[in-house]
Amino acid sequence: MKPFEYRRAHDVDGALSLMAENPGAVFLGGGTNLVDRMKLGVVNPRMVVDVSRLPLDEVDVHADGGVRIGATVRNSDLAAHPVIRSRYPMLARAILAGASGQLRNTATTAGNLMQATRCAYYQDVTTPCNKRDPGSGCSAVDGYVRYHAIFGASDQCIAVHPSDMAVALTALDAVVVVRDMDGEHRIPITEFYRLPGDQPERDTVLAPEQLITAVELPASVSAARSTYVKTRDRASFAFALVSVAVDVKLENGIIADARIALGGVAHRPWRAYKTEDILRGSPPTEETFRQAATAELVDATPQAGNAFKVPMARGVMVSALRSITTDGATR
Ligand code: SF4
Repeated sequence: MKPFEYRRAHDVDGALSLMAENPGAVFLGGGTNLVDRMKLGVVNPRMVVDVSRLPLDEVDVHADGGVRIGATVRNSDLAAHPVIRSRYPMLARAILAGASGQLRNTATTAGNLMQATRCAYYQDVTTPCNKRDPGSGCSAVDGYVRYHAIFGASDQCIAVHPSDMAVALTALDAVVVVRDMDGEHRIPITEFYRLPGDQPERDTVLAPEQLITAVELPASVSAARSTYVKTRDRASFAFALVSVAVDVKLENGIIADARIALGGVAHRPWRAYKTEDILRGSPPTEETFRQAATAELVDATPQAGNAFKVPMARGVMVSALRSITTDGATR
């Protein structure tokens, strides 16, 4: 690892000042991803500004039923929070589906959102990678693509976003709260992550000097009918091949509302709007579920090495929808 300067911020203003005074510095949360990348030589910041102990570690429940999650709330604490477990079960499930117990004890809410792709070529500094070294090429295009995108890729990058939590937050229409020298900004999470286009080095719309301070959840209307399902190569501590976060509201035996996001399929959590459109106003039948899933997947553009993700995504979506709309089903 290359030498770097370490500074700990004690408040948000102090963290922003350190970033403004030190171009090239990066924020450090729990360190479970950034430090790995520094050890591998993928990133070599001259300074890290430790924001992991900022006083942003509360989960506040608002009078309207919404929730504000502080940026430094640890993943384990968030997954175990009684309000998250009862009102946002898909979020608790998504967090618990990620990483390991030890990592979740350290990783923060903001750090989880900002983690980098685990594309093997991105992490291997001996190979070309447009995300790590813009303009150098993409080794994955003609390489090993089992974990890569089937939606929204460009000829410069076909990587996927790795966070499980971000997939659930996307289905929940969460808002990312950000601070910079101009004040506070609120960014819908559906606009927070980018597709690679011709700037694959940018995962989000965030500028380097902007700090995530919280994530806000709107009031949940259908907690009992929400879940997160993840397929992976082994039972734990593995990234998603395909995952799905589903939130469905039933009224009089008809699907009144549905929000669905897919993970492991694109450079950002992929909101399945076409699936949602078909589900709304339809009866919760097997035929509806298959039709709705297929409507989204018809636009998939997989590689030969990951075409299996298309039927896998269909199966995962149908299975998740079936489980949360069948009374008495195991969720
Ligand atoms: Fe790099 Fe993206 Fe290509 Fe992976 S898919 S090698 S991250 S440019």
